[in-house]
Amino acid sequence: MAVARITDVDVIDIRFPTSRELDGSDAMNPDPDYSAAYVILRTDAGDGLEGHAFTFTIGRGNDVQAAAIAALRHHVLGRSAEAVCADPGSVFRALNGDSQLRWLGPEKGVMHMAIGAVVNAVWDLAAKRAGRPVWKLLADAEPEWLADQVDFRYIEDALTREEAVALLRKGKDGAAEREARLLTHGYPAYTTSPGWLGHSDEKLVRLAAQAVADGFTQIKLKVGADLADDIRRLRAARAAVGPGVRIAVDANQRWNVAEAVEWTNALADLDPYWVEEPTSPDDILGHAAVRRGVAPVRVATGEHVQNRIMFKQLLQAEAIDVLQIDATRVGGVNENLAILLLAAKYGVPVCPHAGGVGLCELVRHLSMFDYVALTGTTEDRVIEYVDHLHEHFRDPVTVVNGHYLAPTAPGFSSEMHAASIAAHRYPDGSFWAADAADADLAERRKGTNR
Ligand SMILES: [Mg+2]
Repeated sequence: MAVARITDVDVIDIRFPTSRELDGSDAMNPDPDYSAAYVILRTDAGDGLEGHAFTFTIGRGNDVQAAAIAALRHHVLGRSAEAVCADPGSVFRALNGDSQLRWLGPEKGVMHMAIGAVVNAVWDLAAKRAGRPVWKLLADAEPEWLADQVDFRYIEDALTREEAVALLRKGKDGAAEREARLLTHGYPAYTTSPGWLGHSDEKLVRLAAQAVADGFTQIKLKVGADLADDIRRLRAARAAVGPGVRIAVDANQRWNVAEAVEWTNALADLDPYWVEEPTSPDDILGHAAVRRGVAPVRVATGEHVQNRIMFKQLLQAEAIDVLQIDATRVGGVNENLAILLLAAKYGVPVCPHAGGVGLCELVRHLSMFDYVALTGTTEDRVIEYVDHLHEHFRDPVTVVNGHYLAPTAPGFSSEMHAASIAAHRYPDGSFWAADAADADLAERRKGTNR
């Protein structure tokens, strides 16, 4: 039989008009249109299986992100589907090792996120071919094979391959019991839906109370635009949820270091659980200073941390209490494996960033693997949950009683419905074409009224 090859790498700019509802609004991002620079790997295997994945962006620039993914096409076109699925790390190394494209990073920004999309599409295809969800594929894998998926370059001073194998071997102890527990109980979640900056106080209080009624034990509020507003909103949320529910606050990089300390301490009476992204994601020593200045409030960051090397330094500098991986910010599953291993070694809990479009769908696989076969615990660990745009995915998340249920469908849960792609492709999908026609009509009406 002929070897099945990757025959097409389709790249699609997909956007959702979320800015119109102020969902997702925070102090730095007042009007995001949640978007996906989406990639589909097709093969000639004749089994109908495709690898789907994407980079999450918030609107303008999604075309730039899509162009970066397209620039990687030649590295995967024509490659054996079986070979890449048996070793997704080989794809990570090939993409990351492109010496000309590397100039655009290295290992950071648009190009690195593009690598993550292609690598994640390979994992989706590999898991579909294996008939298992990605979390299970990872949890069942041999420690040596998993360690081979990690690029230890630049992190060996903090974590050697031998240490990684030892952590993964230890993670195998009791994995079967934990897998059974995961399948019945799910994995703890917290919700950000009540706390967007664009919500009225009334909506905040209503959604916060609803979150507790729905079984969540942690919610999150966006802060950082106006201190008096933040105190008022946090007080209202605290009154609505009571003292036993954790409330995290998220500044989305709004502050300088001293300001972060001052502002967080001004909120301390209302018992915020963690302060997220207090300052620039690149400021390791700044995060360490904030952490010293706001204790016992915890410091969390990660959704904009660009690679494993930055995470390594945040851990080495004791700059964070909570590490927030993101499924599409770094170089895909392979680099997130490195980051999960670093966090396990340093004993820092991982509470993934999610929301956006599709991030909840993807990142649950990584936390579930971590629970079943790496750290073996969910203590002080929660995955972010935001309740929108899930309807566009073929294997959407289900959250019951404040817990993500474990996905059982083969793949990475990253595939959107064909109808959603057709409607939201930018700018020519049916939604955007109709929207442009409406805007055009409104403009012409304005013209005749003048
Ligand atoms: Mg955040």
